Amino acid sequence: MPEATSPLDQVIASLETNRERDLADLLRLVAQPSISAQHTGIRECAAIEEELLRSAGLTTQILETANQPMVYGEWLGAPGKPTVLFYGHYDVQPADPLDLWKSPPFEPTIRDGRIYARGIADNKAQHFSHIAAIRAWLETTGSLPVNVKVLLEGEEEIGSPNLDATVLAHRDLLAADLVYTSDGPVTDDRYPEIAFGVRGMLYVELHATGANRDLHSGHWGGVAPNPIWELVRLLNTMLDDQNRITIEGFYDNVQTPTPAARAAMDALPFDVGEAIGRIGLSKMVPPADLPYADRIMARPTLNIAGIDGGYSGEGSKTIIPSKARVKIDMRLVPDQTPDEIWEKIAAHVAKHAPEIEIVRLDGGMLPSYTPVEHPLADTVRAAVERGFGKRPIDIPLVGGSLPDATWTKTLGIPSFLVPYGAPEQANHAPNESYRLERLWQGITTTATLLALLGEA
Ligand SMILES: [Zn+2]
Repeated sequence: MPEATSPLDQVIASLETNRERDLADLLRLVAQPSISAQHTGIRECAAIEEELLRSAGLTTQILETANQPMVYGEWLGAPGKPTVLFYGHYDVQPADPLDLWKSPPFEPTIRDGRIYARGIADNKAQHFSHIAAIRAWLETTGSLPVNVKVLLEGEEEIGSPNLDATVLAHRDLLAADLVYTSDGPVTDDRYPEIAFGVRGMLYVELHATGANRDLHSGHWGGVAPNPIWELVRLLNTMLDDQNRITIEGFYDNVQTPTPAARAAMDALPFDVGEAIGRIGLSKMVPPADLPYADRIMARPTLNIAGIDGGYSGEGSKTIIPSKARVKIDMRLVPDQTPDEIWEKIAAHVAKHAPEIEIVRLDGGMLPSYTPVEHPLADTVRAAVERGFGKRPIDIPLVGGSLPDATWTKTLGIPSFLVPYGAPEQANHAPNESYRLERLWQGITTTATLLALLGEA
């Protein structure tokens, strides 16, 4: 007698049978332009997404925001089981420059095992993988092993300005045990990966003002102050020669990595020499003994992004400038917050250069972190290993900033970032593409995740 197959095996078998249909649905989704920056096709794309969610067996609704709508679907037929919230975004970047595309951006084309289309990798194929897996479960077994919620945003590519407020307004609707996001590419094509957090951000400007106009440096030199010098002196009080930020209290809330996070950082299969060689460097900034992972994952930064004032054109012009400006971005690590760092840097400026004005450009972004030793992390690792055929690497924190704190802080639940895409997929660029192989691997991963969460 043949051995009885598990429900997951049946689901995976049905996915293999239904590949053509899944692909056709995905191609229809990417053929619909949905460019948030240009207000193009957003409602039309939201309608296609809602229909896909409904065809998968979810109950759907449109969540209006102050700008572009979100599409929401749920299936809550597994009382007592965990609830997973899948997040994705259906808006895409503008397709320009159009003449660099080998096939039109909104006419998806398959060449050499890849789908070419604007938005295929970022993010339509990735969140579609979740929808296809949910549909296969409901079609094959009539139910899901866990409760499922899907939230698709329509303005991620313009910075998710309404994500946090909308999530907060629908806190009960969106309550879940974990958030699972597949977006972006993996950092190293050899390994699948799970990212557990992101750095936060605060952006400020410093404005220094001298005389009411640029001055002749011969007539006024030795009399009038030079605002660029004022800024240089102030900047010099903010960072020492070992790159330690010397603003009082800046490190007060910086977490020390737990032993598990430390082990994950030390285990990263990352060739630092090769990576910095690619950008034309032979060494990192001081301190020399600080490991690469600590620089990205455990330390905040204070970066001068730009400085302007005076004359910097060709030849000589002898002036004392009347104004100067510096732009500074700070990458923050858990548990720093933009508000407390703003207070600290503002107090520092008030103490060292009270005549210089400091301006906060926006609210900034909170860092976010889910512990690598979180009890659900092993379930996610096992699902990714089955889907991609390889043990994923743990990335405790990625260096960039995403609104991940919307999940970990606003909703207060763990968040796992599991990119299904590959490094060469050209997000935001012409000829964006997605490997078909990764589509099937991603769908299998999500189908497996649903099964394993049901057993967790
Ligand atoms: Zn993007």
